[in-house]
Amino acid sequence: MKLLLLGVRGSTPTPGPEFVRYGGHTSCVAVIPDGAQDPTLVLDAGTGLRMLSTRLSTPAYRGAIVLSHLHWDHVQGIPFFGAGDRHASVVDVYVPAQRGESGRELVTRMMSPPLFPIEPGGLNGDWTFHTLDAGSYEIGGFTVRTADLAHKGGRTFGYRIEDAASSIAYLPDHGPVQGCSPAARDLVAGVDVMLHDAQFLESERAIADEYGHATVDDAIRLADEAGARRLVLFHHSPVRTDAQLDELARSIDAPLPVSVAREGQLIDVTGYAQDGHGEIGHS
Ligand SMILES: [Zn+2]
Ligand SMILES: [Zn+2]
Repeated sequence: MKLLLLGVRGSTPTPGPEFVRYGGHTSCVAVIPDGAQDPTLVLDAGTGLRMLSTRLSTPAYRGAIVLSHLHWDHVQGIPFFGAGDRHASVVDVYVPAQRGESGRELVTRMMSPPLFPIEPGGLNGDWTFHTLDAGSYEIGGFTVRTADLAHKGGRTFGYRIEDAASSIAYLPDHGPVQGCSPAARDLVAGVDVMLHDAQFLESERAIADEYGHATVDDAIRLADEAGARRLVLFHHSPVRTDAQLDELARSIDAPLPVSVAREGQLIDVTGYAQDGHGEIGHS
């Protein structure tokens, strides 16, 4: 598989000249099967989702979107996803089960008047909403495993995505204040590429714990303990400038390869799995 990073920012979109190189769109990662041109699976629907419409080979998206949780920075791209709003669009949205509500009811909380002009039913195309529990599913041609993560305010999943050739883990919002749960460690075990919450620095530990997020050191520790092969630091703080992220990238001292996620990056996971030298490109 390949990963196309469409949004790598946490909390809120972050425009401005100090943020152009790493990007200001909130969480969204397209997963492209080997041999395919377009993704069949999208991880989260932050504002980065809007950019997917310009990257597809067809006008209409036909595939799945799995949501880690329902915070704004993971869902606000849904109403602005042009390729999902065509008559030919077929979109299956998966939401962590909670509050005894259906998937459609949960998404309608953020997308309905008076907060937004329309409900999900007002989108063109064939949209179906599902809930997920902790477990293993076949979605978009991949094996998708979910596990509950510690985070603040609503049920939050991490995801492990596998095909025959490779595996990734996606844990964009994770506050392992008391240490990682066995389920989180199991989710990440031995993956080729791990994308993890790195919103805060160790010097910001108190606020990281209060907000339910990880520090860069937390992410490195989990990746190392669980035997992930590569770590991509993800969900950057909206105050972290390009210069500061450059400095972070330079300062990392870790027992495994670590990079800082950048909007527009294309990550060849299959290449990593085969020879450890997959391309990190900028498309
Ligand atoms: Zn978030
Ligand atoms: Zn969150």
